Amino acid sequence: MSNEIKMVEAPAGVAGEGFFATQIDQVVGLARSKSLWPLPFATSCCGIEFMATMAPHYDLARFGSERPSFSPRQADMLMVMGTIAKKMAPVLRQVYEQMAEPRWVISVGACACSGGIFDTYSVLQGIDKIIPVDVYVPGCPPRPEQILDGIMKLQELVKNEPMRRRNSPEYKALLASYGIIVN
Ligand code: SF4
Repeated sequence: MSNEIKMVEAPAGVAGEGFFATQIDQVVGLARSKSLWPLPFATSCCGIEFMATMAPHYDLARFGSERPSFSPRQADMLMVMGTIAKKMAPVLRQVYEQMAEPRWVISVGACACSGGIFDTYSVLQGIDKIIPVDVYVPGCPPRPEQILDGIMKLQELVKNEPMRRRNSPEYKALLASYGIIVN
């Protein structure tokens, strides 16, 4: 096993003796992307795959996300895993609304993405009917590698997100389209 420890590449900038200058957006984006705290909203089988993703073999800690939060106040990456019954939808929506900005959402597995095989009156046909989704992970269930891939895709989004995005009219319009009004 290699003992080599890989360091994250520094953002583009200007370096000289004793100084390094770059853009604040890039530093904040880098820090946020490597320290996403998940809120696992797991309702069924896909949640088991998430447990495997957290366990030592796949080791989500390698991505800076080993600290799951079951309080929306201390999480910025909502991971929805499993079938969401329509009765559960308002609860999911409330959890999302209780998260502070910036917040991101990963929809894990066919059920969360589209209702999956449960094309029936009682199941929400995709969580994007009630909250905005940043990354979709397909599969029934997706393997831990796919969940990790989804998290890495989100890391790229987070890293490149301008700090002003959350105050932009476009973002407010997105939330408004879900009936979420922000001041
Ligand atoms: S997508 Fe498949 S594995 Fe995941 S919760 Fe639905 S039925 Fe279970």
